[in-house]
Amino acid sequence: MRRTKIIVTIGPATHNYEIIETMISEGADAIRLNFSHGTHEEKKEIIKMVRDIEEELNKPIPIIGDLQGPVVRLGSFKPIELKKRMRCKLVKGDESDSSKYEFAVPSKEIFSVVEVGDLILVAGGLMKLTVEEVESNQITCITLIDGTMEPHKTLIVKGKEIPLHPITEKDNIDMKFCIDNDVDYLMLSFIRRREHVVLFKDILRRFNARIRVIPKIETRSAVDNLEGILEVSDGILVARGDLGMYFPLEEIPNIQTLIVEKCLRSGVPVMVATQLLESMIDNPLPTRSEVVDVMTAVKCGVDGLLLSGETAIGKYPIEAVKWLRRIIESAEKTASYSVEMKAENIYDRFARGAGLLAESLGAKILAFTRSGSTALRLSRNRLRIPIYVVTNTIKMARFISILWGIRSFYVESKDMEECIKIAMERLKSTGELSYGDIVVCIRGLRRGATDAVNIEIIQ
Ligand code: ATP
Ligand code: MG
Ligand code: MG
Repeated sequence: MRRTKIIVTIGPATHNYEIIETMISEGADAIRLNFSHGTHEEKKEIIKMVRDIEEELNKPIPIIGDLQGPVVRLGSFKPIELKKRMRCKLVKGDESDSSKYEFAVPSKEIFSVVEVGDLILVAGGLMKLTVEEVESNQITCITLIDGTMEPHKTLIVKGKEIPLHPITEKDNIDMKFCIDNDVDYLMLSFIRRREHVVLFKDILRRFNARIRVIPKIETRSAVDNLEGILEVSDGILVARGDLGMYFPLEEIPNIQTLIVEKCLRSGVPVMVATQLLESMIDNPLPTRSEVVDVMTAVKCGVDGLLLSGETAIGKYPIEAVKWLRRIIESAEKTASYSVEMKAENIYDRFARGAGLLAESLGAKILAFTRSGSTALRLSRNRLRIPIYVVTNTIKMARFISILWGIRSFYVESKDMEECIKIAMERLKSTGELSYGDIVVCIRGLRRGATDAVNIEIIQ
């Protein structure tokens, strides 16, 4: 049983029922929709497909909406090619005349942050500019490479953060779409601190939305403010793409390790994204170094790994999922985890104890969860035995299915004992439980608790 989960981004290469279904059969556990690209119409179609596949395969499939977040973009102008060492201007406003080498930037915030000597990157490096002079309404720059300036592309100032409002109008619209279309998780881009996460959660609460949040750690401030962010997060994404814009690349491995360790100690699920199998966008095989990178993440104990370009625009999306599964399975064979939680309450300790008991019996765990906390408690301890968790809403089954080591399913019954009984029968019928298996059954008798255990031997 594979423990580390696989999340795939759907894009033009995978916007197709059969392909999504095959990716899920081959190991994809969750679906990501990136709201930085594509239309709502297209997202609606994908959601419908995933919900149909969920029913067909009888497997909970969480859908994760990734919000674009506060980024500076260029305004409108005609695309133009520039040569190295040309002078051009970034000008405040929505539109500009690019034949005069003037490029509009609607966000006024950038003009108070930029200083002479700063490096500006357009679309992650499509164009590089160095700042020569700053005035209140314009920034004069020199191009450092041959390249094109295209409208609406993102723009960053190397090493600096621009104090934009944490929730953009686009994010508000996209969030509303996610609420209306049964999305399960939201990834929050460019989160800088705890309060920003709380702002999103307040909106979700106001709409009565059952959506969980996964901030993306991709800025310097987010790394600095991680502890606070963890307190209010349902999961964390180490978004290595944009992190690499803010930090020198050689620092990324240490930052990844630091974030993963902090998440494990705080008991917050953590996922890693970007360039995991990047070469598979064009090739049917991963490179050696990609295999090593994925293995390293698995051995650190991440909950999940996220494919982006590989499945969104790649030539080999299904092969990428297969390879990711292969590498994970191989890494898990020799992985050994030792998780020291920072603070544990009595139920956390009860769950840990029950897990150790099951391990020492060579048993399998079957747990019931209503609020998800029993699933989270069991997942956190990175046990070496199968953990089946049953719950009685499809929503909760989806929430917990992204957790490390948890195989979730749902049974329609209000009665906890009946859920466990039906789950047991189902596992017997699939062969996951068989004659002689010892099963440690775990549940909570009180709200939010994990406080009851019994042991059964399958007859
Ligand atoms: P993020 O920073 O949120 O990861 P990204 O631009 O890197 O955003 P990914 O989701 O990582 O986007 O996907 C990689 C690439 O795939 C994108 O840069 C984009 O070119 C393409 N892509 C992804 N989703 C779509 C889509 N729905 N429509 C068109 N292109 C897409
Ligand atoms: Mg991003
Ligand atoms: Mg990306």
